[in-house]
Amino acid sequence: MKLFFPTMFSGSDWLNDVLMDIDNNGTIKSLLSESKSSNADEIIDGTCLPGMPNLHSHAFQRAMAGLTEIASSGGSNFWTWQRVMYDFLTKLLPEDVEAIASQLYMEMLKGGFTSVAEFHYLHNDKNGNQFDNPSEMSDRIFAAANNTGIGLTHLPVLYAHGGFGALTPQKGQKRFLQTISQFQLLLETLYNRYGSDGQRKIGMALHSLRAVSPEMIKDAVTLMSKAPIHIHIAEQKKEVDQCIEWSGQRPVEWLLENINVNKRWCLIHATHMNNKEINALANTHAIVGLCPTTEANLGDGIFPLEKFMLKKGKIGVGSDSNTSVDVAEELRLLEYGQRLSQQRRNIGAIENNTSTGETLFKASLAGGSQALDQPIGMLTPGRRADFIVLNNKHPVLFGRRGSAIIDSWIFTGGRELISDVFVAGQHLIKNHRHIRQENIERRYHSTIKSLAN
Ligand code: ZN
Repeated sequence: MKLFFPTMFSGSDWLNDVLMDIDNNGTIKSLLSESKSSNADEIIDGTCLPGMPNLHSHAFQRAMAGLTEIASSGGSNFWTWQRVMYDFLTKLLPEDVEAIASQLYMEMLKGGFTSVAEFHYLHNDKNGNQFDNPSEMSDRIFAAANNTGIGLTHLPVLYAHGGFGALTPQKGQKRFLQTISQFQLLLETLYNRYGSDGQRKIGMALHSLRAVSPEMIKDAVTLMSKAPIHIHIAEQKKEVDQCIEWSGQRPVEWLLENINVNKRWCLIHATHMNNKEINALANTHAIVGLCPTTEANLGDGIFPLEKFMLKKGKIGVGSDSNTSVDVAEELRLLEYGQRLSQQRRNIGAIENNTSTGETLFKASLAGGSQALDQPIGMLTPGRRADFIVLNNKHPVLFGRRGSAIIDSWIFTGGRELISDVFVAGQHLIKNHRHIRQENIERRYHSTIKSLAN
């Protein structure tokens, strides 16, 4: 299939009059600029950009977005939010998770995310028992990816304890808990079932240093030799203090000194780091997974973006609790948090005379692709044809050229500027609507209704 684009950002360069040839597997065969539209099967009007990999999502949390904004008497914080989340889980059935994830992944496509790393820790039934099918809940995530067409890196999460020092888990954590042999069985089941599917990838995650002991981390990383490994690392100040109390070290410091962290790793919310940790983490080539809207919603703190990027540290973005599902909003808030705390502008641009939006967009495409371990994030031969199309007729984009298109989308527009989305060459969002939107919405509505009862 040959598509023609008047304007494209490939992930590194701005190109005009581009002819993209896509093979039957959805991989880009060739890309030629200064071409003629008469050679194309279809002309795609608008500006074409690579789709963003979403490197961190907990799909089920989408259904509780907006329900946690009531102040509680003892003070609202991350830990009171966590208790609401545990309560929400007392009801969810496997089919609910599939319906919620399908609706969410459709929203992600519309928001500019063309693939997602699902950090999946909801393994057990309502009573905390294992399902007969060890991959029951994971299967629902794969089904949601199939229903919507989004690219998926599935990350089953090892979760065993209730706090640093292998504390006994709380009641609300019973749906997450696994032994290392149950975790191994889940990974093997998933490999057998989905291992050869090109658009899907299986990695693993360790919930956090709170939930997995050092011995378990060491055992878990031997279960896979190449796949990506993600971990929540230093989201809250209280977590840092508890880690110091437990080990004498800060979370990032502990991880880097005790585990061989390399570019397979993605550290979610490396929010709280000192200068020594920033330098050491940048040197590992691991990705830092930032989720600005969730980090703001939960009151986590502000990541030291400039220091980390000046050390050539690698970043990507995710939607985490899925309160918001919008690439532009994540990147905008990432930059605005820096501006508000430092009272300066264009901090993410790093170099003078460089676009802030384009710099953050490019960095997140590259970091996200590495974290998902998929051939995405750049429109170039050999990579998957995952891309979004911005509506050039929208007033926000009138007369904009080059980097100003990305800056205008991120800082002035948002997801409403995205008219069309393709994954592996498949036209999934056509003029703002998903090709299976009615079905997906109908199932989501009935799940939300049943959860309200
Ligand atoms: Zn998370």
